[in-house]
Amino acid sequence: MDTKAVALGMPELRPVSPGLGAPRPGGTETGLLDQFGRVATDMRLSLTDKCNLRCTYCMPEAGLDWLKKDKLLTAAEIVRLVGLGVNRLGVRELRLTGGEPLVRADLVQIIAALRVNHPDLPISLTTNGVGLAKKAQALADAGLTRLNVSMDTIHHDAFLQLTRRPFLDQVKAGIEAAAAAGMKPIKINAVLLRGINDSTAAELLEWSLERGYELRFIEQMPLDADHGWTRDGMITAAEIRALIATDFELTPDPRARDGAPAERFEVRRHGSTELLGTVGIIASVTEPFCADCRRTRITAEGKVMSCLFSRTEVDLLELLRAGDSTNDDDAVTARWQDAMWAKPRAHGMGHPGLGDADFVQPDRSMSAIGG
Ligand code: SAM
Ligand code: SF4
Repeated sequence: MDTKAVALGMPELRPVSPGLGAPRPGGTETGLLDQFGRVATDMRLSLTDKCNLRCTYCMPEAGLDWLKKDKLLTAAEIVRLVGLGVNRLGVRELRLTGGEPLVRADLVQIIAALRVNHPDLPISLTTNGVGLAKKAQALADAGLTRLNVSMDTIHHDAFLQLTRRPFLDQVKAGIEAAAAAGMKPIKINAVLLRGINDSTAAELLEWSLERGYELRFIEQMPLDADHGWTRDGMITAAEIRALIATDFELTPDPRARDGAPAERFEVRRHGSTELLGTVGIIASVTEPFCADCRRTRITAEGKVMSCLFSRTEVDLLELLRAGDSTNDDDAVTARWQDAMWAKPRAHGMGHPGLGDADFVQPDRSMSAIGG
């Protein structure tokens, strides 16, 4: 087990709730409540640990062991888990992610089944866009409404450097196909790496605005399999704002953030009042939003991770496979609630009073958690 420690910033904290240390309240009425009073309503479900890119900030170039097929949640188990989340535990939105969810052959069937069971549930997909051009229409027809496509650059050389694969044109074609299939909003996720794509941040924003996509920059987090992240190396949210400010004026979006990870800004050209669109910045490291976190994560092998940076995982697969009676469902929901009750107050990045002075990077890479 790698226990490399990296010093990070200090998350802002909500005052400790009086219930700290108390046992979890029984019953499902409290949903996915934690000891600090937060209630998770946003479910992130990873469909696979596999991927067809090798982004340097996420996966190693080679050498990751894939999960065996019988260890992965099946389509039926996914549908059952989402049903328990929505019908019993107050889940209000679902994001399917990975690894790369498009590599799952039964993705369209999974979305179609979820949509039949939950006609009004916002279901979104985070994808790298490779192969999306062929599947976009089928995904839209199955009931997918929201899409995030990760594309860090519009330049082939930088794309190759970042992802170690020459598939930029496929990604762009996938985004176009999704727009043509009527998916809206389409969000573009971008991670900036110093010396590779940071200088073209404003250009990527221009490209996104021209096409009506909402760009969101994500601060690079210490979740890479190579453990190459450094505090000095990462591009901070403040730097991202400065990089964009060369070409655009940003003003805070007046709409409520409402627990969203991204802080949104309205974008205009300097000296103009014309609103061109919005841009989001997800500052998990330098401006953490743990106090308002509403996320519950399930890995592709059915483990609850109460936090992206969690080093504790709670298995649901064994209980799911024990049977599908009401009693079995009760056991699954109770264990899921227990896991969330123990959600840490913050991601433990060097805050005094939270234990370790130094943050310890989780064993899992981002691809194996589900971003
Ligand atoms: N493969 C899909 C994709 O790339 O969109 C879905 C999974 S990926 C893990 C989800 C998101 O996590 C992507 O937008 C990716 O850029 C982001 N991500 C991966 N590693 C990251 C890291 N170390 N720091 C910040 N974001 C990261
Ligand atoms: Fe694959 Fe997404 Fe990780 Fe890139 S960020 S390696 S596309 S899982």
